[in-house]
Amino acid sequence: KKELTISYDAKDEIGELIIVYESMMAKLKYSFEQQQQFMADASHELRTPIQVVEGHLSLLNRWGKDDPEILVESLGIALREVSQMKTLIDEMLELARGEQVKDLPPTNIIEHTEEVIEELVQVYPAAYIEHELPDDRNLKVLISSNTYQQIIRNLLINAIRYSLEPANVRISYERTEKDVTIHVNDKGIGIEPQHVSKIFDRFYRVDTARSRDLGGSGLGLSIVKMLVENARGSIHVTSDPGNGSTFSVVFPLLK
Ligand code: ADP
Repeated sequence: KKELTISYDAKDEIGELIIVYESMMAKLKYSFEQQQQFMADASHELRTPIQVVEGHLSLLNRWGKDDPEILVESLGIALREVSQMKTLIDEMLELARGEQVKDLPPTNIIEHTEEVIEELVQVYPAAYIEHELPDDRNLKVLISSNTYQQIIRNLLINAIRYSLEPANVRISYERTEKDVTIHVNDKGIGIEPQHVSKIFDRFYRVDTARSRDLGGSGLGLSIVKMLVENARGSIHVTSDPGNGSTFSVVFPLLK
């Protein structure tokens, strides 16, 4: 491909025009890239809640007319998921516009971990998810409940997908004076050391036969990292190839 280069002198009118034009193009390119990122991230993040809604709608379709219990429960879950999807899209739009999400509310994380687990056992009925509750169940973090759920959902789905069936996943907490660490541990395929630092990059996937089968997009962890850092947290991983991985998210605790 031949590159066209024009040399110009910034001091004359054409030079000035070209500078204005180039800065406009750079802004357009940036906003186009932001939009592409938003589209990719939103489709990635909406997949699981849509699956849950779809599952409950088909339950309703089959049994809902005759079984009032199914009717009430499935409608409740579908409505909850749809309202979370709405918030999720709003928050992702804010992030895509490059805005720091402001006024983060205090969120009690334990109950939101529980909610994600309840959601995922419906999508992955074969998986075993152990939630090891800490003594102190009042762990408050400055993060929206939706964002927290997004983070945990992504980590749990990976833990399940990169395990041999049936997946065995454990969530536990560790707290210090100042912060709380959430550990998501699996006994899955693990990650070789040369890949560990790259898995948080956008579109990076470890190319194993297993990953290829699963056909992910390589976006989940980059979204997780962005959301964690936006809430002033950090994320780390330790892995033993062949034996499993632990993803650990640290958040400052709210007193
Ligand atoms: P995706 O899962 O869509 O490929 P992610 O960004 O969530 O994208 O993950 C990037 C890569 O990191 C995955 O392709 C996989 O190779 C690896 N990975 C993520 N989580 C785990 C895990 N719990 N165990 C083993 N490998 C993992």
